Amino acid sequence: MPHIDTDRLKRDCPLLDVVASYGIPLRQSGQTWVGRCPFHPDGGRPNFHVYARTNSWFCFRCGVGGDVIRFVQKMDGVNFRQAVERLQGGSLRGGAAHPCASLRRAIPTPAREWGASERACLAAAVELYSNRLFSDPAALDYVQRRGLRRSTLEQCRVGYARGDELVAYLRWRRLPVQAAVRVGLLTPGGREFLAGRIVVPEVRGGQPIWLIGRTMDLDSRAPRYLALPGLKPLLGWESARRSPWVIVTEGPFDWLTLRQWNLPALALIGTHARAEALRALRRFERVYLALDNDDAGAAATEELLRTLGPCAVPLALRDVKDVADLAAAPHGRRAFMRVLRRAMRASPHCTGRSEESNNAKEATYVVLSESSRVDRPAGS
Ligand SMILES: [Zn+2]
Repeated sequence: MPHIDTDRLKRDCPLLDVVASYGIPLRQSGQTWVGRCPFHPDGGRPNFHVYARTNSWFCFRCGVGGDVIRFVQKMDGVNFRQAVERLQGGSLRGGAAHPCASLRRAIPTPAREWGASERACLAAAVELYSNRLFSDPAALDYVQRRGLRRSTLEQCRVGYARGDELVAYLRWRRLPVQAAVRVGLLTPGGREFLAGRIVVPEVRGGQPIWLIGRTMDLDSRAPRYLALPGLKPLLGWESARRSPWVIVTEGPFDWLTLRQWNLPALALIGTHARAEALRALRRFERVYLALDNDDAGAAATEELLRTLGPCAVPLALRDVKDVADLAAAPHGRRAFMRVLRRAMRASPHCTGRSEESNNAKEATYVVLSESSRVDRPAGS
């Protein structure tokens, strides 16, 4: 067996990511992440601790712990060498395999560990809101005018919170209203937090874990988006995780648009990518950036290009404000696909993060008018 640079392997495969890739939910508590131990029936208070600072873990019940290699050994019942190989993506020599290649399909965000009641309330709310959307003419008209098809809305479990029925629905389902308050669906005063909004859930393993709602009333002074509290996930993880490449957008409606076109997509929910989101994005061989066509979108694109390196490729928008605008535009999909294909051809291989790729740095523009030149390098 050739020499193994374990320090580098541990750097390349942060323990938090690896634990998440086994579907073990962790919740943050200061510098420590806590969850249920996978090595013993951990029913009561969670005993499994992951220390991000030292990249190590320990179970206080089992009395065992160690580094990422030890974790994989115990999880998979393999020896040191096999664990290393798994972490390296099955290839020690050649160097072609991405570190953590086998973990690329992992879950990026340790899901917030809600109890059964809270999870049931989230699921019930998504069900109620989804049914309501299809029976509320104004709400349905709004999403359809934005170019979203019924099949997309159903598939992504988009809903409408009318604002006056969640409490009664939870009671009818015999679910504890207090649990809905804890997850943020209801205010302590019993008001529906997302009332009057189109609601998009983030779903993991069939379970909604987080909701965001967009107001339909653009004249109101209410914020355009409201989201439940807690860690903001990369919206759409499950639909994108199996793809080697992904398109990154800002908002839920951009994401819905790309999902409608059957493209692997993730929404940052804003312009800021937290460290966890960046770690998740690094798992893709190629990340196409389709952020909003404004100053904030441009600044965020620059920042992502800098942090993600040559594997990130900008797709700049023109004539439209964001990807969501293309959903209702004639030829919107065609314009987007043309530019995406061109960007793919211009940067066919991601050679690794240390090498610069000039092609990958050039922005390609999405324009709607057929007569305009479609792609030009940024700044020319
Ligand atoms: Zn244990």
